[in-house]
Amino acid sequence: MTTLENFAHKYPAFVAQLVAVIKGRKPVVRIDFELHDDYVGLIDLLVSLNLVWFEHSPMPVRICYSSSLQKSKEIKVKAYPWYTETESYRFLRFFTHLSEYEKFWEYLTEGELIPLELEGGDLNSSFETVIAKDFEGLMNFLTQYAVAKTHFAKAQQSEVQIFDRILGTAFGYPDCCTERFMVERQRRRSREDYFYYETIIEEGLENSIPIELRAVAHVPCSVFCQQSINLGKEYFSELKDYDFKVYDIVIKELMKPTLFIDLWHQFSVTELNHKFVNYAAEKREKDFLNIAKTEAIEIKEAMLGRIEHVPFQYLSDFIGVWWIGVDPGNAILLYNLETGEKKLYKKHKESNIADLRFFRYKL
Ligand SMILES: [Zn+2]
Repeated sequence: MTTLENFAHKYPAFVAQLVAVIKGRKPVVRIDFELHDDYVGLIDLLVSLNLVWFEHSPMPVRICYSSSLQKSKEIKVKAYPWYTETESYRFLRFFTHLSEYEKFWEYLTEGELIPLELEGGDLNSSFETVIAKDFEGLMNFLTQYAVAKTHFAKAQQSEVQIFDRILGTAFGYPDCCTERFMVERQRRRSREDYFYYETIIEEGLENSIPIELRAVAHVPCSVFCQQSINLGKEYFSELKDYDFKVYDIVIKELMKPTLFIDLWHQFSVTELNHKFVNYAAEKREKDFLNIAKTEAIEIKEAMLGRIEHVPFQYLSDFIGVWWIGVDPGNAILLYNLETGEKKLYKKHKESNIADLRFFRYKL
């Protein structure tokens, strides 16, 4: 299996977005999951694809690119006195505590970019990796990012919206979705990401969500957002053209239902065929149904399913084969086939209408 195929199984939406960046259909792609053991594989992949990326994980900040790009970028690179070379790729290091950001932005002015000073000398305190097609693409992104940060970091409410707007453009999100995000952020302060899922429930589309909406990197403004659907379509068509096998994997992975406990607990589930269920599984099924009875859960959907990948390490105890029982909007019961571990979630007063259900997709 190639690295890209392997990544397509684990991070299908990311791979669709990455190829969109390679094909010039998306300005940058951000990694919003933890890589762990896949980090080295990702670096190899980015190097082999001649991509350029920005790392902030956790220190120092680095601009990275394949050494094969070195020749064409030699003049620019000479402007950065602190770069280090490795066998396969080069990276520029920036240490925030040495005010090297200032130097960084000064050097940018020697190119075609806007002079900037980054207030506070920090882009984002969290782990961050942003990948672009080439050096120019990454610099354009960082320039917009820095403009947003520098001018609107300590902003008033209205200026926060300008910050969002700049970043939305920098990441290539549709205007309607950025606008909606800003409005919701002001309205609810947190959990603004829920508005998309709420539109799915309100429209009764939880079993037929356009799969394109799963491929985009932003939260769509609604389940009907044509701009987002079109963007997803474009990613798929580029991917199909780029590598059909990878495209096939991505579609299959994205078609898997999502077990949506809440915004922070969402998992793709591979449904397992009942004919493979052995004696142990059957016994567990009885226990599972008994627990449901005891807990007074009215299971309306049940499946034997495997959760293979989780975006963050702290969710790793969800990996496994489970009997999954759902009373949509009210309760989810997970019962581990191997260990007999039970996880039970019930509706409470903070629950959103989108919580505690399966979401399914259509092509
Ligand atoms: Zn939209």
